[in-house]
Amino acid sequence: MGDYCQICHKKLERDEIAIYLKLVNRGAKEYLCIPCLADYFKCSQEVIHSRIKDLKEMGCTLFG
Ligand SMILES: [Zn+2]
Repeated sequence: MGDYCQICHKKLERDEIAIYLKLVNRGAKEYLCIPCLADYFKCSQEVIHSRIKDLKEMGCTLFG
């Protein structure tokens, strides 16, 4: 995959794409990295990391 953050143009990890799809828009074709997503939600990156962890533990199919 060659997906980059729409704001800072960082190369995205699979988890960053998955959490974006999960939290923002299931049909998105453009994504944000975790730091930019945290800004977007006005929350800490910690919150997003913990959401990723929860979703993985629940066996969410968006996460590898
Ligand atoms: Zn970014």
